[in-house]
Amino acid sequence: MSDAAAFGAELIKAGLLLETGVPGLYGRSGTFEAVHDGLDAWITRIGVAERAEIMRFPPAMNRKRFEASGYMRGFPQLAGTIHCFCGDEREHRALLACIETGQDWTAGQKATDAVLTPAACYPLYPILAARGPLPPGGATIDVMSWCYRHEPSDDPARLQSFRMREYVRIGRPEDVLEFRQRWLDQAPVIGAALGLPALTDLANDPFFGRTGKLKADSQREQGLKFELLIPVGSAEKPTACMSFNYHQDLFGTLCGLTLPDGSTAHTGCVGFGMERLVMALFRHHGFTPATWPAAVRATLSL
Ligand code: ATP
Ligand code: ZN
Ligand code: MG
Repeated sequence: MSDAAAFGAELIKAGLLLETGVPGLYGRSGTFEAVHDGLDAWITRIGVAERAEIMRFPPAMNRKRFEASGYMRGFPQLAGTIHCFCGDEREHRALLACIETGQDWTAGQKATDAVLTPAACYPLYPILAARGPLPPGGATIDVMSWCYRHEPSDDPARLQSFRMREYVRIGRPEDVLEFRQRWLDQAPVIGAALGLPALTDLANDPFFGRTGKLKADSQREQGLKFELLIPVGSAEKPTACMSFNYHQDLFGTLCGLTLPDGSTAHTGCVGFGMERLVMALFRHHGFTPATWPAAVRATLSL
């Protein structure tokens, strides 16, 4: 068993994660959620100077808007779609017969207007764009969504369904870069406040296919993505618990986000992987929050 799988088994044995029988899909205990809620409230406090507009989304988003985001070009392997039965009584009987005989009953399922949200910031760009040109100074959004990624794993830190909290900056390139740098500068402070060994490093997204390698290399060369890495499942290979992304004018162009002078807005986001951070806390401080260092408990109001 890998390090990560062993840590997952411990979390399950301690009752912090509840097994569903699908890798990467877990229920959470009250203790897990208390830590999550403390972390969530602390993220609000450390972001208060952003004076961000709050947006909260359900786990699913508009399929047309998802298509327009280009996600299927970069990450078709990760996307989750929502399909439903739309047939008549005859087709219903056929479906039940398939289930009863253990055959595939899903072939007739039809795509709905919704897909599962891949990253918390995706639903917000079209909503902002629909308001018209941004105000001078742009916008800052505090967003949270349950996210889905089809990456089943025995590493408990690689979930299929998880919560992502983000601060998103929309504005001139220099506004977005200043915002991202400010959060990158804060990264060691965040690690220290949680009592966690954290390092920041340049990163890339797992772009699909042969052209994916080129896209990943170019993303790295341009310094578009950084991660806050903390050992969670594996001691040797630390896990990305936060990311600091500069999208340039990608979403601005795709969604028609404009600045008062008519130019296209740039965007960037700072994302917190909520479950990963909670698991990092359990990994480094033990499974009983009452015994955690007083400073960490104070940070998390535990
Ligand atoms: P990784 O390199 O580990 O796959 P990522 O680069 O795909 O992470 P992002 O797309 O930047 O991650 O997502 C923002 C944050 O969401 C990450 O920093 C991480 O904390 C969290 N996250 C991403 N994928 C998962 C997952 N499968 N399970 C739990 N949290 C995740
Ligand atoms: Zn984002
Ligand atoms: Mg990933």
